[in-house]
Amino acid sequence: MQILDGKLIREKNTPLLIEKIKSLSFVPCLAIIQVGNRPDSTSYIKAKKSFAKKIGINEIHIQLDESVSQDEVINIIKKYNEDNSVQGIIVQLPLPIGLSSEIIINSIDSRKDVDGLTPLNIKRLVDGNENAIISATARGINQLLKFYNIDLFAKKVTVVGRSTLVGKPIALMCLNENATVTVCHSKTNNLEEETKKADVLIVAIGKPNFIGKNHVKSGQIVIDVGISRQTDNTLTGDVNFEEVKDIVEMITPVPGGVGQMTVLALFENLVDLCYSIRN
Ligand code: NAP
Repeated sequence: MQILDGKLIREKNTPLLIEKIKSLSFVPCLAIIQVGNRPDSTSYIKAKKSFAKKIGINEIHIQLDESVSQDEVINIIKKYNEDNSVQGIIVQLPLPIGLSSEIIINSIDSRKDVDGLTPLNIKRLVDGNENAIISATARGINQLLKFYNIDLFAKKVTVVGRSTLVGKPIALMCLNENATVTVCHSKTNNLEEETKKADVLIVAIGKPNFIGKNHVKSGQIVIDVGISRQTDNTLTGDVNFEEVKDIVEMITPVPGGVGQMTVLALFENLVDLCYSIRN
């Protein structure tokens, strides 16, 4: 079994990203909007801020109280839409109950949409348009597969999870790479049958260690997107690594796999947006 090492790829690709940033005539800036103080969101934001610092990107972290109104959040987004010193805006999801992530995300100018979640970017992803800014997780997985020369062309890919933020963009990315894609979810019958069919199994459900030895087959490539924080503060994926590691051919670890790639891809999206503003 081979480990697909997201940390290694990120380390290898970071110097190139830094070069691209240095070639810009300005220092890019990312505005991160957080509502409430979910510990998982806070730790994801911490990782983004720390990587931004490492690669020479400015960031503004706006932390709003849970009681903030939807209009107030939208007004803040509108302010950054107009602010030429900010090239990227990210709203950390999930938002507290009572706020519509759809309405809030849709208020981001698609030219600053580093998460690739606004209607224009989703449409481009659906169309397979190369100019799409695609969700950082999907971009990161694509890059990870390419690094290990895993070509999705004509492969059977099963994606478990169909959220708008994670599962669906991953499935569309795979489709755009000419894979034959099956998408599973909580209503799927015979999940084990569907997951075993895959050459590449991608799991994004948020249920620690859910995918076990009965879901996989020999020779498979397994991409574990799940990140769940345990009571002892360790991170666990959706795949039971110990159970499947001697069956599958390649697997991403948690931590050290997809999460590393997602942070890198987010800033690659930002830098792409900076270049598209200039051209
Ligand atoms: P989500 O919005 O809760 O969606 C979970 C999806 O999994 C839903 O589509 C759900 O199906 C499906 N599901 C739940 N239980 C299932 C089951 N027993 N069998 C089959 N499908 C099942 O979660 P998310 O935002 O997509 O995130 C998923 C995971 O990815 C989380 O652990 C999150 O922390 C992680 N994540 C990681 C990264 C990274 O960079 N590595 C980035 C983002 C998110 P229904 O649609 O039928 O409800």
